[in-house]
Formats: sequence, structure tokens, C-alpha cells
Amino acid sequence: MKFLSRFILLLILILFYKPSSAGDILTREQIDPQYKWNLTVIYPGWEAWEAGLENLKVLMDSMSVHKGTLAQGPEQLYRVMKLNEDINVLIYRVYQYPRLQWDLDTRNQDVSGKTKQVQILFSKFQTATAWIDPEMLQIPWETMNKWLTENKKLSLYRFGIENLYRLQAHVLDEDKEKLLSYFLQLEQSPPSIYAELSTSDISFPEVVLSDTQKVQMTHGNYYYTLSTDRNQENRRKAFEAYYGIFEKNKHTYASIYNGVCQRDWAQAQARKYNSSLEAALEGDNVPVSVYENLVTIVKQNTSPMQKYLELRKRILGLQEYHLYDGSIPIVDFDKTYSYEEAKKWVLASVKPLGKEYQKRLEKALAGGWIDVYESPGKRSGAYSTDVYGVHPYMLMNYNKTLDAVFTLAHELGHTIHTQLADENQPFATHDYTIFVAEVASTLNEQLLLDYMLEQSTNPKERIALIQQAISNITNTFYFQTMLADYEWQVHRLVEEGKPVTTDRLTEINARLDSTYYGQAAVIDQLYNYVWTRIPHMYRTPFYVYQYATCYASSAQIYKNITSGSMKEQREARDRYLQLLKSGGDDYPMNQLKQAGVDLTQPETFLAVVQQFNDLVSLMEKEIDKLQ
Ligand SMILES: [Zn+2]
Repeated sequence: MKFLSRFILLLILILFYKPSSAGDILTREQIDPQYKWNLTVIYPGWEAWEAGLENLKVLMDSMSVHKGTLAQGPEQLYRVMKLNEDINVLIYRVYQYPRLQWDLDTRNQDVSGKTKQVQILFSKFQTATAWIDPEMLQIPWETMNKWLTENKKLSLYRFGIENLYRLQAHVLDEDKEKLLSYFLQLEQSPPSIYAELSTSDISFPEVVLSDTQKVQMTHGNYYYTLSTDRNQENRRKAFEAYYGIFEKNKHTYASIYNGVCQRDWAQAQARKYNSSLEAALEGDNVPVSVYENLVTIVKQNTSPMQKYLELRKRILGLQEYHLYDGSIPIVDFDKTYSYEEAKKWVLASVKPLGKEYQKRLEKALAGGWIDVYESPGKRSGAYSTDVYGVHPYMLMNYNKTLDAVFTLAHELGHTIHTQLADENQPFATHDYTIFVAEVASTLNEQLLLDYMLEQSTNPKERIALIQQAISNITNTFYFQTMLADYEWQVHRLVEEGKPVTTDRLTEINARLDSTYYGQAAVIDQLYNYVWTRIPHMYRTPFYVYQYATCYASSAQIYKNITSGSMKEQREARDRYLQLLKSGGDDYPMNQLKQAGVDLTQPETFLAVVQQFNDLVSLMEKEIDKLQ
């Protein structure tokens, strides 16, 4: 059982391939308050935050007197569980208040310091509570089971406690747990060095594009150029400049990644796992075979992807197709969507999920929950994060592209999921896993696509929409599985005691590129450094495969709620809403099964391949109509 809520990891649901921006950005003062976060509902100001922090320290300190008392009985165990819960509830506010402000301006050293101050407190707390797990596990399961059955208050914690006993083989004795806890801060070093190198210390080069316009290749401008500039030469320049910054530090990135993989393997061995992957999946009770199935099946089914790239090359009239040509729309379509317009689309699109769902979404869009626009120093990308007891907060960098409209739908999916789980579960089980998280977001994207396709009579817009659906699959399913394959291979190198060097990493990447893209694209040398710029691999290893499994799960649920008789559809919808409301009250594989998804079956993944194939054929038909 984790004695700090898992939300610290879960809150970063960043879609790293979707940040983008263009042109001038407004300062925060220039942006209308309705498009900015209202953080005063968390705390009215720093003074109140300080008081919260003090209160948190007092609560944390009060934990130590309970050491050695757990065996006294269910009442005492409940007292400790409840105290831990109170601490975790408070942590949401105390941690998120500075952290969210830091994300609004990552140059702000003051809030950065305050965020770190809370993180240091977490580590201390984890050291001070290292005794709880081992002490609880000394109570025989038969006794514990009896307590959980007889004591109603304690039974709220049943799932977490049962899970702890399941993981017992990997919990060490008190001395060893304490020893390991000394390394907690250090273990966060590789990702924090990565973050500094790729965010704080990065300086983006200026590029002169063909129209003599000078552009600084920030993350945002890079994605913007790739997805809007119809001149291939400009895309090449953008790509070379942007990847160049990462290439320049390739040995440092390789060394950081080696640190990540070494850490994972050390942790896995310390806790008696056979592999880093097994250790990473065990927490959610996901069988390694699901990961293996995914990686193997997708690898064997890359031909639809290659067929799609060939189609793009033909329609775009390119002599050579490069991977930096992958984001440019297949037809000239650069309609922009105002944020107000996007809100209306997204709101209308979730109608199949019912009135209550729609109402919740409307409230989330009303102002204060979403920080909409890019501003100087603001974190790139988009995410949804919870402040328990307040409401979820969403960070966006809305830039009016079709992609941004879909990102809005995506993050709102997380937001409503969080809200439903918070309201329908006790605190102990409110926190859902990443494994189900991306189902809620990708389903909303699918619904938006449907709705917009229904509404749109503009043939070019229709093609853009189909392309959006195809890109979802290439980005969410194929690309993420390729990354998952990559991180698995590198972790295995470490497990086999083989050196992780820049050359080795580049080589593994090159081999994957050739499997996935075949002859359909020219793989530029610089592209082999793609692993330097994927934050998830440094921050949360073995995370990205869940985008793919979630995509497959959501495709299945979508099929269930949109086909069959009305009655069947309604039942499927209710099963889905039940999944959202169930938070983290069971293992994610079981939760998904209840909602009608079985990830142990290869067919679940093959269905996405089929869907992809169908979309490419539909795209071909729509294009024929244009000509
Ligand atoms: Zn997401």
C-alpha cells in the first residue's frame, strides 16, 4: 500500500505530441480571467497555504506515536488508516497550489522552491512511515480478513489492504524498507535532470524559413510549422533545428536514460522481481503478457501504416516522404477554430454519454477550471490534474487548430472521469490508474470526431477529420507501442548487464523505425534521436504502452455504445459510466472486463489495426471524390 497518494504520478497526463502554438503570445495579465485558472478556491493566498503546510507537518508528525500499535485491533488500524487519509487529502492542496503556479511560469524560482519544499516533506514522511507496511503484514491475513469483514469503517480500505497482501512477496522487512526510503529523493534525479536539460536550460535556435521569416523553434513553433507549413523545405529546416538541440546533448540524454533504467532494475531486484517490466506492471496487477501481446501484434501489423504513408506521399506530391511530413494535413485545410466554437463542438459531441455527463462538462468549461492559452514560461502540452475536494484543473495551450479542439475533448475526458470517481468513491478508492485513464480521454475524442463528421459538409474538412482519426491511431497506438518496444528493449539491455550507450540507443531506434515505416519513409539520421525528447520515458517508464491499450479499450467501448439495439447501447453506456465512477476500486483489468473489454485477447488489438485499415480506405474514397 502506498502511503502517499498515487496522484503525484497520475496528474501528469500530458499529451506530449500535441503541444503547439504560433505567433505572438499574450502575457498573463492580458488574458481574460475566464480563460485562466482560479486557484483561490484552493487557497486564498500564500498565507493560507503556509498554514496548510504547517497543519500537514503536524499531522505527519502525529503518525509516529502509532508505531507498534497496529496489531491492537481493527479500531486502532482504522485510526492509522484514517490519519493517513487525512494527510493525503491535505497533500492535494498543499502540493498543487505551488505546483500549478509553477506550471504557469516555470521560470518562477519562488514557486519552484515551494513545490520542492513540499516534495522534501513527502520524502521525510515516507521515511517516517516506512514501518507501516511491514507492521501491517505481520498480522496474519486470516485475522486481517476477519477485521475487514467485521469492522465497517475499516472495510473502506479493503481493496488497498488486500492489494498489499498480494504484493507481500515484494515488501521487505522494516530495516530494508527504511534503507530503501533513503534513496527516494535520489531516484528522482534522472527525471529531474532531464526536465532541467530539456525545459529550463534549453535554448531554442532561430530558423529562417523560405519566406525570410525568422522563427524561434520552440516546442510550440516546431509543431506548428510541421502541421501547417506546406513547404517541405521549411519543415525540414524546422525539424533539423529542433532535433539539433536534442542531438547536441545526445550523450547527456543517453546517460540520463541509462540512469533511469539502472534505477528501475535496481528497484526491481531489491524487491525480487524478475524484470523491470514485471515490477512496473505488478502494481496494477497487469500481466506481462498483455505488454508482450501488444508489442508483438503491432510489430506484425505495420503494413496499414506504411500503406497510409504511401498514400500521403502520393497526395502531397512529395518526391521523398520524411517523418517530418507526418503532421501536415493531406489537403490544404487550415480552418481555425476559436475556443468558444471548440467548446460548443465538444459539449454537443458527448450527447451519447447522457445528460448528466453533458452537464458536468458544461460546468468544467464555464471558467476557472481550464488555463486555456499559452503564456510566457508556461509549461507546454496539456493535462488534467486533480485537486481533491476542490475540482480538477486543466492546462491547455489552445492554438485554434483542429488538433487543439481534440486536445480539449481529450483532457475534458480526464476531468469528468476524475470528478465522477471523486464523487462516487470513498477517498481510499477514488484514485484511478493510468491504465484506465486514457480510455475516458480517447473515447471523447472519438465522439467528437463522429459529431464533427456528421456536421461537416465541407469535403476538405471531412478529409481533415478522417485524418485526425488516423493520426489518433498512428500517434496513440502505433507510435506509443513503438516507444514501449524501445523502452522494453533498453531495460532488457541493462538487465543483461550490457552497456547503454548513445550508439546502442540510436541503433535500437533505427531498427524499430525500419520495422514500422519500412520503405514508406526516408528515415533521417536525426530522427534516430527521438528517444531524447519523450519526457514520459524519463519521468514514468513503461507508461506509454497504456496509451495503446487504452486506445484499444476505448475503441471496444465505443463500438459497444454506438452499435446494436438501443437497449444494448444504453446498457453499454451505463457500464462505461460505471467504469468512470468506479475510480480505483478494483484492478484495472477487472474494471475493463466489467466494461466489456478483454486485453488478454489479441483480437482487441487486431480490431484497432482493422479500424485503421478501414479509415485509410475511407480516406482514399473521400480523396477520389475531390478529384
Ligand atoms: Zn490523456
